[in-house]
Amino acid sequence: RATSTRPYSNGPLLPPTYEKLYNKYSEVRRVLGARRLTLAEKILYSHLDNVQESLLSNTNNGRDIRANASLKLRPDRVNMQDASAQMALLQFMTCNLPQTAIPASIHCDHLIVGEHGADDDLSAGIKTNREVFDFLESAAKKYGIDFWPPGAGIIHQTVLENYALPGLMMLGTDSHSPNAGGLCTITIGVGGADAVEALVGAPWELKAPKIMGVKLTGTLNDWVSPKDLILHLAGLLTVRGGTGYVVEYFGPGVETLSLTGMATVCNMGAELGATTSIFPYTEASKRYLKATRREQASRNADALQSFPGAGAAEDAFFRFQADEGAQYDELIEIDLSKLEPHINGPFTPDLATPLSQFKKAVEEQQWPAELSAGLIGSCTNSSYEDMTRVESIVREAEKAGLKPKADFYITPGSEQIRATLERDGTLETFTQAGGIVLSNACGPCIGQWKRHDGVAKGTPNAILTSYNRNFRGRNDGNPETMNFLASPEIVTAMAYAGSTTFNPMTDALTTPSGASFRFPSPRGLEGPETPFEQGKQALAVLSQPPDPSVGVAISPSSERLALLEPFDPFPESDLTGLRVLVKVAGKCTTDTISAAGPWLKYKGHLPNISANTLNTAVNAETGEVNAAYDHDLDGGPEAKATIPELALRFRERGLPWLVVAEHNYGEGSAREHAALQPRYLGARIIVCKSFARIHETNLKKQGVVPLTFAEQADYNKIAAGDEVDTVGLYDMLRNGGVGEVSLRVRRRGAKDEVVTIPVRHTVSPDQARFILAGSALNLLAKGG
Ligand code: SF4
Repeated sequence: RATSTRPYSNGPLLPPTYEKLYNKYSEVRRVLGARRLTLAEKILYSHLDNVQESLLSNTNNGRDIRANASLKLRPDRVNMQDASAQMALLQFMTCNLPQTAIPASIHCDHLIVGEHGADDDLSAGIKTNREVFDFLESAAKKYGIDFWPPGAGIIHQTVLENYALPGLMMLGTDSHSPNAGGLCTITIGVGGADAVEALVGAPWELKAPKIMGVKLTGTLNDWVSPKDLILHLAGLLTVRGGTGYVVEYFGPGVETLSLTGMATVCNMGAELGATTSIFPYTEASKRYLKATRREQASRNADALQSFPGAGAAEDAFFRFQADEGAQYDELIEIDLSKLEPHINGPFTPDLATPLSQFKKAVEEQQWPAELSAGLIGSCTNSSYEDMTRVESIVREAEKAGLKPKADFYITPGSEQIRATLERDGTLETFTQAGGIVLSNACGPCIGQWKRHDGVAKGTPNAILTSYNRNFRGRNDGNPETMNFLASPEIVTAMAYAGSTTFNPMTDALTTPSGASFRFPSPRGLEGPETPFEQGKQALAVLSQPPDPSVGVAISPSSERLALLEPFDPFPESDLTGLRVLVKVAGKCTTDTISAAGPWLKYKGHLPNISANTLNTAVNAETGEVNAAYDHDLDGGPEAKATIPELALRFRERGLPWLVVAEHNYGEGSAREHAALQPRYLGARIIVCKSFARIHETNLKKQGVVPLTFAEQADYNKIAAGDEVDTVGLYDMLRNGGVGEVSLRVRRRGAKDEVVTIPVRHTVSPDQARFILAGSALNLLAKGG
């Protein structure tokens, strides 16, 4: 045991400490006995700061851990993408520490615009964003953080290739961080404030998730890919169905999937609202570790599984899979053999239509029949398997003399995959077919897409992508672009047809010579026959020791970076005279609260980016987008404003405010700006019918209190301009999150009419402390 449990060294990359995992897991077993645990529980509980306290407090002596225990976790590392890393690092800097407490990495991926192709776009992106990249690089040097420069790849692909290892627990400042669950890693998407907590060495708190088991049987058919599994699940569960759950896959069907396919499924678990998703460690995982030059990691994982258990738990020791007979809170069974390809959208990832029904849906819904562009790749679907499957059908179409009728874009997820696909001729196949290879960056997936195809903003049109998310305006900033999600092979075949009604499984195209052409079933390789190429990944700066002599300079005149000022603490009383800024109708995602696209460039400058706050929200009372009314101005011409303008006016008047909203407020990405901006502008509470988990936590970290209606119909009892006092909120916070809260609402224009609305909250003792301090960071900076 002594030799094999030592932390191992794996070149320049930081490995997991299996000895720590072994010891913690032994402790979990001592506390819980031979209780049957799911895989997610094994990994999560083995990262507890205090096993006994977390598992036994408030859990009926360990019998009801899920949904009750407050887990204080010690993640193994933190990964940050460039857009969210800016604010995370600005926050970290205010704590005055010499280095991060756990290993961390920064990935420059979100700021590169997709326009002409990889080389031009990358150099233009570097030029435009130099100030930010320099800031991130200098902070990485100062604090000893791994730095992946622009062009190195998209965070989730790079993490999968380099940092994900079975049994690890990681945090990522991006909602698709669960991608690494494909390699049996618990990875949770968080906001920058959570990341900073872990970076300063504080335990990270999570309400013990429930576990949803997805049992897979059978084998995927030819045109069906792992993407279709998650598209189907999204349709089944909706964007709220996974809320509060870890989705854990098991069953014989798991063994039939490639590692990268499992990662795709976990990546899009974010579209179910799940805390994270995870697959067991399989033979495919071992093959992937070998292909990515990490055989030692595979050997260590094997070794860990052969260690004896502690005492009575001997028979149930760590096996990177659930214990036989482990119980799930929800159980779904999917026969992979019965799945068909799916196309999900537009505007929401859970509107799932089987391919065979899609033509009918297009006609019935009057979606555009013409396809304007097909985009494949991204962090979700740019694996060797995905790309070689696409290559197989592109080759056949080329042989038949066909070219894609719609614009065709390819985004490799990392330099490693790009260089390997280049070496193996796949990229050349795509470019010869007329495809445009974009840089290894997010680009069109996050609104960073400059279209030159004459589709003007506001023009309805349809695009198909193999990305993961399709909120309105997500890709090109055009709210009328209907964005459908599908597997890369379906996207590509339909790009050849230039039509949304084409079914590549049954329909034929006509070649230039007039012959009929049917696409063959896609055939790909799980991985390259020789290990992946490294390409220009050597540009990444890894495992550097912290250098306190490095200055992290931010120009005071910068429009993109600004040092942070601490938020004011909670008043020593209940809140009084809050004004309802706006009542929002329908979906209010983090994209709605803090839009991406052109605003991404202000991520490090809180005052500047706040000018986009809620700027695509729908006013529930008027149906207008981004319209709010200053009821203090008695309907004068000045009364109408945009939502951020009115928020700024309130801030300038020293008038605290709140937002009223409907279900799943803050769904979507982990974007902490969606919490920071309202807080900066003066929001004190958000009241809605329900919250998305990450956003709810983000609000608390920034000192904004998230409240939900005890009676959902009370949404109708409150309107913009109403004045609100909280009742019981201050006492609840002082009592560590215990106590009843209600809102006393004085109706606008009828101040004598007072309505009391009972509300609920999920504030934990720690969260109560940082709300009182003004923000979590205020408390951390004070050593709290
Ligand atoms: Fe980038 Fe899109 Fe992946 Fe997010 S989902 S990391 S924006 S490629």
